[in-house]
Amino acid sequence: MMNQPLLISALIRHADTCHGDTEIVTRLTEGGIHRYGYRDAHRRARQLARALLRLGVALGDRVGTLAWNNYRHFEIYYATSGVGAICHTINPRLFPEQIAYIVNHAGDRLVFFDLTFGKLVETLRPLCPGVEHWVLLTDRAHFPGGASTALCYEELLAAESDDYEWPAFSEETAAALCYTSGTTGNPKGVLYSHRSTVLHAYAINLPDVMGLSARDTALPVVPMFHVNAWGLPYAAPMVGAKMVLPGPGLDGASLCELYAAERVTISAGVPTIWLNTLAHLREKQIRLPLPHRTIIGGAAASPALIHALETEQGIEVRHGWGMTETSPACTINTFLAKHAAQSTEARDMVHAKQGRIVPGVELRIVDDAGRELPRDGTAFGELQVRGHWICREYFKSEGGNILRPGGWFATGDVATLDGDGYMRIVDRTKDIIKSGGEWISSIEIENIALGHPAVAGSAVIGLPHEKWGERPLLVIVKRAGHDVTAEQMLEFLRPRIAKWWLPDAVVFTDAIPLTGTGKVYKTKLRQIYAGYYTKNPEAA
Ligand code: ADP
Repeated sequence: MMNQPLLISALIRHADTCHGDTEIVTRLTEGGIHRYGYRDAHRRARQLARALLRLGVALGDRVGTLAWNNYRHFEIYYATSGVGAICHTINPRLFPEQIAYIVNHAGDRLVFFDLTFGKLVETLRPLCPGVEHWVLLTDRAHFPGGASTALCYEELLAAESDDYEWPAFSEETAAALCYTSGTTGNPKGVLYSHRSTVLHAYAINLPDVMGLSARDTALPVVPMFHVNAWGLPYAAPMVGAKMVLPGPGLDGASLCELYAAERVTISAGVPTIWLNTLAHLREKQIRLPLPHRTIIGGAAASPALIHALETEQGIEVRHGWGMTETSPACTINTFLAKHAAQSTEARDMVHAKQGRIVPGVELRIVDDAGRELPRDGTAFGELQVRGHWICREYFKSEGGNILRPGGWFATGDVATLDGDGYMRIVDRTKDIIKSGGEWISSIEIENIALGHPAVAGSAVIGLPHEKWGERPLLVIVKRAGHDVTAEQMLEFLRPRIAKWWLPDAVVFTDAIPLTGTGKVYKTKLRQIYAGYYTKNPEAA
């Protein structure tokens, strides 16, 4: 057989050849909607490739982006990787000092940024002297006066022809770079190769994973700076699915407008996005067009959320698990034929799991001594993964190889596995609550609490406790127009969990702090409520 390298440029070339008119629709940062087809996207990516080369970008160079999901960001994905450079997507929601650290650590030579981030870039400039050019992602007409030293994206493109052939190089060449958000310690860079990215795209297009097709319209709510929008910007052109990019409009109203107007058939995002969107759908009594399947991951999707989306909207929920280090797709939840005959309760149990193992990766769970535990759905231990798109070591890390014997990557999550390949996350190692020598799953209590009709958001954290080591505290955000007391909340939990799992106290708040990727910021919560049980001995 021929041995052709697996290169990202082949994906956009294929989309141009076979799906040239299939649209990419963008809600613009400048306002309004932009639409064009894969043929135009490919043409502009080639123009941008020439512009990059003219600016001196060479094989292996890092090119940063501070941008929403939009068509220009999509062009940067393909132009940078296509010329053999590395597309480094940066999470703009991090603190400026963290972003500066990331830009400097990556050694970005260029940074492309959206209009939204003009102010941020002014803060970053003096902190990132290595960046040769800052490029504003707009045309001259939308250029703000103050950012005059930035280059204009549309002018860069206009100056170039599209006469460019994507070069061939080793499939192991780095294509993209993403830093973990570093809730503990400095952010760490994960470098994806052309090979890992293309194989991951093939895998997520399998019917039991995300299963995109040329008849789908895909809307990644998950940002292109969060693990490459989970691979959708590669998987969609691979099969010619229409793409809808929501830009900065991630609120319920903006998303629902796009879901309906563009007849979106597949979406993807973290649970908090769906909690907000669901609140909007309920308030306005909107029914979204069907069919719609949604991939929820990045944090645990509660059974209550899955149930609400399916029964109130008819949306098919596919719960998935992954991390920045795993590209991310490792498991995704779809049913097996045998589940059709089972009771609703039994199916709900299956459905709440993080899903079955995606072919191309292997999963196992181990005990503290590193011994593999049984795949019986009950035993739980640290989850380890290995496969074609799993990180071997961090970018420029002094530690080098981080793998365990046998080439396994230790995820820091605690999980169960069963004989059908379903994985269930019990908790993150650092969030699991250790009480009197036993473990309490914070996720499980949160999920049950979310089943209460008055609860819009929940978080459970372990706080230091004199007698037990740690005890759980339940933090609740009430649903608008609903009321519940701490005692009623505990009454609701009591019959549903083991006695010693019952939180010692319930506190109410207006908003639970979220991380830059929209997950519950537990480190922050632990700081806020530190000493709660020592200061309120009657609660403990
Ligand atoms: P971070 O959350 O640190 O910003 P990642 O986006 O890489 O970084 O998140 C990976 C982590 O998110 C996993 O290790 C796991 O703890 C959590 N996670 C991802 N998907 C799920 C899920 N479906 N259920 C529970 N936890 C999840």
